[in-house]
Amino acid sequence: MSKSSRNELNPPSTLLNNARRRCKWELVAALREGNDKIISALPAMGKSRGAIFAASETGIPITVLTGRGHEEQYQQFGKWCDEFDLTWERIPSFTNDCDTYNGKHGSKAKSKVSKLYDRGVRPAQIHKKVEPPCIDDCTYTKKWDTNLDDFDVLIGHYTHGYLTNVIQGRAVFVDEFSGNGFETKIPEPKLPRIVTSFVQAYELPFTSYKNLIETRDDTKKLDEALDWFEEYGFEISGKELIANSKLYRNAPLLVYSLLNSEKLGNGWERCSFSKFDITQQPLDFLKSYKMAFNPTDGYDSSLYLLNPPDWSYARNVIGLDGTPIMAMWGEIIPTAEKHQVLSEKERREYISEGLNHHYILTTTNTKPYSSHKSEIHNRVNVGYDAAVFDGVVYATGINPGLISTKGANKVYEENDIYTIGPNDEFNSSHIACAEHYGNLLGSNRLDTCQVGVLSGSQHFGDNFIEKWGAYHSHAVERERQGVDITYGPLGDEIYQHMVRNQTLQAAMRFGRESNDPTVVFVNTNTLPEWVPVVDQVKAVRISEGLRSVADAIRGVDEWQTTEDVSNHPQVDVGISMVRKHLQRLHEMGLIERKNEGRGKVVRDEKLERLPEYGYLTHVNDSDNQPYTISYRDHYRKE
Ligand SMILES: [Zn+2]
Repeated sequence: MSKSSRNELNPPSTLLNNARRRCKWELVAALREGNDKIISALPAMGKSRGAIFAASETGIPITVLTGRGHEEQYQQFGKWCDEFDLTWERIPSFTNDCDTYNGKHGSKAKSKVSKLYDRGVRPAQIHKKVEPPCIDDCTYTKKWDTNLDDFDVLIGHYTHGYLTNVIQGRAVFVDEFSGNGFETKIPEPKLPRIVTSFVQAYELPFTSYKNLIETRDDTKKLDEALDWFEEYGFEISGKELIANSKLYRNAPLLVYSLLNSEKLGNGWERCSFSKFDITQQPLDFLKSYKMAFNPTDGYDSSLYLLNPPDWSYARNVIGLDGTPIMAMWGEIIPTAEKHQVLSEKERREYISEGLNHHYILTTTNTKPYSSHKSEIHNRVNVGYDAAVFDGVVYATGINPGLISTKGANKVYEENDIYTIGPNDEFNSSHIACAEHYGNLLGSNRLDTCQVGVLSGSQHFGDNFIEKWGAYHSHAVERERQGVDITYGPLGDEIYQHMVRNQTLQAAMRFGRESNDPTVVFVNTNTLPEWVPVVDQVKAVRISEGLRSVADAIRGVDEWQTTEDVSNHPQVDVGISMVRKHLQRLHEMGLIERKNEGRGKVVRDEKLERLPEYGYLTHVNDSDNQPYTISYRDHYRKE
């Protein structure tokens, strides 16, 4: 958070300071106790910085595994280490540090090396066996010569959790939940190629992937194949991989899981190796793997392998999460217990009083806006959403920041419903910035937006929920649609993670720089139920009739009677309707009105401010009066 002069005038409330203090001391306690834990602390409570503080307070060496924004996030952790006088090092990463992989020796060499790496040839073997141009002087190789044990803090990616030497004897912090940090996706077009090449190269009793899928229930073939695995195991050596460019290291694992999978009845199949009696050392690594696969899915029949690191080498593991879902964390750190820093009541106060955040709902629909490209145009309600954006400008007097999905933002732009960028002039169809869910952590632009609109929710598709159900050996299916959407108890927990918690985390991204009130208009009904909502509004679209009445007056200096307006050639509504529209324009402060003779006369005051698409009104207001927030003057730019 930046230290603006505004911040000094408005120090964070005691409540905020207390929450942050509690968070960091609970991290110290978790580190001292040495148990595996998931620390639940809302955004901006300082949990990542708290992890570094805890290391300095206890003197316990730690490893931080993170993913978001990679390099930036690593640097941020590094800065905190410097602040607390701790020594730190970034764990070497092949994709970042190998000079051939990162392109220093040209694209041809890079392509050769990256193809080998993708097929599972280990970095050490790449350097030893194929002699890439970096061979004598590779930054990656040299970095491994440094003794990492000497550092107080090691910082790396989730996948570094697999490297015993960087977690051994240390406390490990997993910064935010990451399913795909510990998951391998074998995309649908790649899967048949990998399987076919493997069964052909090693003469398993199947001729191809297709043949394997069709005949894998044949007991004779199955027995023969399992005998093969008994004899040859699961390892393809680096030498074999380098010699045959069609082979992939994980091919035996894929084939074995396809032969041993259990069908769940909803199209998904899964395989967990923990149930097999695996005691031989070379096979021990298999135990933590879980496979989930839906060959019947028309959109995505990729095969997924979930493989959490073996944390038993670490001193203990602590997950950090704003809104943890234990059904999912349990798959990554099975031994961890959840620890909530604030109670539910305190969390509500933290949002509304500590952060000074106020959420106003603008719809009763979930608005799932991360659909497939072909469907996104049908999903996004452009007319309604545009009326919401205009209404927010009208209600607050300033141009808001916008968060939506990448797809929805594209639809808004194609329909030209707003302009984006810094803006001193009042303009109803203008927003300060547009961000999407996928890029929130890397974006600082929202920090200064004291008014925000969050439009639509993220939904990766039911198959995301079904896949996590499959890891649990559970056939998850959607039971109800719409706002009452449900997938059963387990599926609903995963839905909570995928949709509701992302909505909350996005809403909390606005207005971080100052402690002034932040108002977020939430244009999706997917906030978690416990989150305080201060008001519920709806958008009213500007009708043709209202617009024609406004056009009749706009830019005319003389006072006009209701009859004058009604007689204007462009006005096509009856006189009582004209009267209503004039009343509305007056309430909106857009026209002047005075008594003259027996009636009223009107003239343009600032009709240039009439929103183009619509405005907001309170849900219970049957008159559709325009909605403004009570502290509108606080923001208003005149
Ligand atoms: Zn290299």
